Amino acid sequence: MFDARYSMRSHVAGALRPSDTGIRVTLAGWVHRRRDHGGLIFVALRDRSGLVQCVFDPETSTAAFAVGESVRPEWVVRLSGTVRRRPPGTENPALATGEVEVVVEHAEVLNRSETPPFEVDSAIATDETLRLKHRYIDMRRPEVLEALLLRDRVTQRFRKALEHRGFVEVETPMLGRSTPEGARDFIVPSRLNPGEFYALPQSPQLYKQLLMVGGLERYYQIARCFRDEDLRADRQPEFTQVDIEMSFVTADDVLALMEEVLHEVVREAGVDLPVPLQRLGYAEAMDRYGSDRPDTRYGMELADLSAVFAGTTFKVFGSALEAGGVVKAIVAPCAGDWSRGRIDALAPVAQEAGAKGLAWIAFSSDGQVRSPIAKFLSESEMAALRQRLDVRPGDLVLFAADERAAANEVLGALRVHLAQELGLAAKGGFSCLWVVDFPLFKWDEEEGRWSANHHPFTRPFDEHLDMIESDPASVLSYSYDLVMNGVEVGGGTLRIHDPQLQQRVLGVLGIDEEEAKEQFGFLLDALAYGAPPHGGIALGLDRLVMLLARKHSIRDVIAFPKTSSGACPLTGAPAPVAPRQLRDVHLRLE
Ligand code: ASP
Repeated sequence: MFDARYSMRSHVAGALRPSDTGIRVTLAGWVHRRRDHGGLIFVALRDRSGLVQCVFDPETSTAAFAVGESVRPEWVVRLSGTVRRRPPGTENPALATGEVEVVVEHAEVLNRSETPPFEVDSAIATDETLRLKHRYIDMRRPEVLEALLLRDRVTQRFRKALEHRGFVEVETPMLGRSTPEGARDFIVPSRLNPGEFYALPQSPQLYKQLLMVGGLERYYQIARCFRDEDLRADRQPEFTQVDIEMSFVTADDVLALMEEVLHEVVREAGVDLPVPLQRLGYAEAMDRYGSDRPDTRYGMELADLSAVFAGTTFKVFGSALEAGGVVKAIVAPCAGDWSRGRIDALAPVAQEAGAKGLAWIAFSSDGQVRSPIAKFLSESEMAALRQRLDVRPGDLVLFAADERAAANEVLGALRVHLAQELGLAAKGGFSCLWVVDFPLFKWDEEEGRWSANHHPFTRPFDEHLDMIESDPASVLSYSYDLVMNGVEVGGGTLRIHDPQLQQRVLGVLGIDEEEAKEQFGFLLDALAYGAPPHGGIALGLDRLVMLLARKHSIRDVIAFPKTSSGACPLTGAPAPVAPRQLRDVHLRLE
């Protein structure tokens, strides 16, 4: 509880109410705003708990009044005075303390402030880099403060919920060996071991598996992870995971536990999560939404029209079908009246996702049909299409004709883009579901080899073990991603606990025995000493809090985030180091 104990005040500003009328209080905080009303000075005093109006009246105290005259925004003050009801008509219902004010009898300046580079007023839009450079001022804004407080509550709730269920918090090393999680490592040179490097953990994956072999059975950690990737709005070079691992479990056990925990956690943000959550197989998610992280706050599902166009003379569709592909479509409601230019602007979105062009039919509200391709379609095809898609006036139909995965990808991208443009997501509340049963491998075009879809320690379906070498593409895994509002907020898998099976999977990944020994021989060794069946999950704390706080960037829920170029505007990191420091770690710069 945040209150006045252990501080040089008797009350916190934001807690004063009409029931405090008549009591004498001592407050300490920042001058949020100062107004001079000819003869009276009003100061909104701010501390972490909120704001209260303080009145300086020369009739009450000339000394205090003089201080009131001198103070400026963000000065630090300590005030004593008496709480009274505000005169009728001057109450401020927007403020929790808006019915009262403090008549200042004694005032003391604890510290002055330079004129801040921006106002501590949530309504003000300030350049983000400037805000981050002065983050200590920025976080005085209620918006930032609230996000940090929510993050704290969510973290505490995770701890409580997990401890309550027998989980043990264990810290794992920051200076470790590179983990193959698919990203680039941050590396740290070792002074004591010339030419050798630690890697900062991309996740505690291997350590948590070792903890299971060690008999901990239920582990968690609020773990910092480091990945040297190109940054986007929901990525930072360092981020926090709620990292979990359990022994003697099935995938159902992990999901059931997580649903209970999540239900408790999101309540901190006033979200009532109906559990159990929907589970969608990976293949079905791709087929219906064109995405493995579908946003189900809106419909616009992908429809397969291959049967409608089975015998079509329209070349584009016909040749896709002949090559074993599909013709699929989505219907954008209310976009049927869009101008040609606005519809054409969708083509780059489709192309970005791999389409060659974009075929469309617009059904205007007034019954007209506009389309660059309708003239190539027969009357019966048009009728069948209308019926299959349940087309209404005002609908815009967008097509993709390609190999199945490619068509799904294109329509998936259009679906997300259109939902944003039509504002569909905002109306739909909160969507949360599991996407499960991902393929174990994916084909890496660039490298011409199989790579792990999640990580190399993921356990294949028992009934698919025979196909690992013969048909890697068809092997599914015990895996699950948690998807909220179209954002992947977590993922996990059951792990391989049999060293032979681990060796086979590594074989398909092109990691031979020697290389495996070299990279993570310690894990293979551990598996050979009685590893229990185990599995786990990691939730991205930053992303989760971002969604719960209804923000669009994880930077908004991190106290000291980095910019998209990985820099910290406040401290100036990264920065050069002294030549001597380089010599110490046996490095020379090119
Ligand atoms: N280590 C995985 C990750 O960071 C999560 C897991 O499988 O538990 O994505």
